[in-house]
Amino acid sequence: MLNLSVLLESTARTLPDRAALVCGGETTTYAELDASSGKVAQAMRERGVRRGDRVALICPNLPAFPVIYFGLLKAGAVVVPLNPLLKQRELSFIFGDCGAVAVFAWEGNDQLPVLENARAAAAEVDSVRRVLGIGELDELLAPYSGEAETEQTGAEDTAVIIYTSGTTGLPKGAALTHVSLLLNARTKEQLVPKADHDVVLVALPLYHVFGQTSVMNGNIYGGGTLVLLPRFDPDTALDLLLEHRVSLFSGVPSMFQAFLQVDPEGTRLREAGKTLRVVTSGGAPLPVPLFERFAELSGVEVRQGYGLSETSPTVTFSPWDEPIRPASVGKPVWGVDIEIFDRNDKPLPAGSVGEIVIRGHCVMQGYFNRPEATAEAIRDGWFHTGDLGRFDEDGYLYVVDRVKDLILRGGYNVYPAEVEQVLLAHPSVAFCAVVGEPHERLGQEVVAYVVPRTGHEIDPAGLAAWARERLAEYKYPRRIEVRDALPMTATGKILKRSLG
Ligand code: AMP
Repeated sequence: MLNLSVLLESTARTLPDRAALVCGGETTTYAELDASSGKVAQAMRERGVRRGDRVALICPNLPAFPVIYFGLLKAGAVVVPLNPLLKQRELSFIFGDCGAVAVFAWEGNDQLPVLENARAAAAEVDSVRRVLGIGELDELLAPYSGEAETEQTGAEDTAVIIYTSGTTGLPKGAALTHVSLLLNARTKEQLVPKADHDVVLVALPLYHVFGQTSVMNGNIYGGGTLVLLPRFDPDTALDLLLEHRVSLFSGVPSMFQAFLQVDPEGTRLREAGKTLRVVTSGGAPLPVPLFERFAELSGVEVRQGYGLSETSPTVTFSPWDEPIRPASVGKPVWGVDIEIFDRNDKPLPAGSVGEIVIRGHCVMQGYFNRPEATAEAIRDGWFHTGDLGRFDEDGYLYVVDRVKDLILRGGYNVYPAEVEQVLLAHPSVAFCAVVGEPHERLGQEVVAYVVPRTGHEIDPAGLAAWARERLAEYKYPRRIEVRDALPMTATGKILKRSLG
């Protein structure tokens, strides 16, 4: 029997007075976090929440997130963390899909009335019995002692459901077990040297698996102090790195890019680099020029990891004891098998590009209540990622692109990520996205959307010539559009479908 909340309970026993959370001048110790989550468990039980019940949690990076998350786990419930930006229609779809019995929602603000949206969505779904506002949390917990008995769930019981679009279609809930999440939270132990006390900037959203497992759970287990940033903005993040002498930072590539935009001379990055001991990137490809520029300014080399919601998430990381290969996402972590399969699910040798497939404790149980989608994704024990990749001779993995992003131009495969790397190496380009747009003769044409760096201008013809010099004739973008910004998720993924 095992419950993921053991991560918190073990640290609360050994380091009760250590600051667990710091947010806007408010500090919560490990003992306080553990006690408050115990109160949530008591309050939930008294309201009829039972083992296996799904409860949605819609909350930015505030202390309430871990309090409720661990409280729900202690009660044996399944946490369904959701992005506060979701609209009523999206919320009611998810509440219905997972059969949520209760919802915790942050109040939000005038532009983003989160609690109001959640109430309206819940009214459309029969299973939801209660919607609780996070602002009422103190009042809700006041009657309880916090000494709740933790529900000893089965190790293979579902702990968390993460909604993701997967490789295709509507959002689906990746059901992750207590044991998968526990082992993944503990990958840090085998990946980076131990430190007595880490201070961690939590800029990645906690509703996403990367921020939740690798950053929150991993560091709660390790006894770190988590500095919570409710909404990423690069200036505040840089100030927090300095103010709290942060030692660990995990981000998505767009965050590193944003640091360079607001601190182009590296004044603050150089200072932050003095205390940062590990910096990691994941969630999307990290362009090599970005890796190089960040290292130049901060003195710290970013280590890449790769993973998905469906794999709890980390499956590769760049090994500590070998020089970093910036274009690679590293090597498989302990307990995870990775292969490259061809279209007939046959393994390919090193050097060949194919679909990345994953097997091991980290793989989800399946998409909640979707046996067909699950059977399509997990075949013969191998989870099919929808990402294209290759291994080199030394066992380093390279993510080449997404299967569905692949552009087929006149019979040739064009990997947008490869074209994007070339465009990003141009000194005037801050962000870019390369997509395939319908073309009468060729099937698809290569089109690039680019955002200039602050103080720079982009001449589309000049940039096309730059790409043409560096890429095979069939690959370079025939049309380049300059934009002020690109539509992007909080986890650093450019929403390519919204372009055009
Ligand atoms: P999510 O389920 O939101 O975590 O998204 C998973 C997807 O993010 C993967 O299938 C990859 O396409 C992408 N991804 C994650 N990490 C990396 C990385 N280091 N390099 C390239 N793509 C990545």
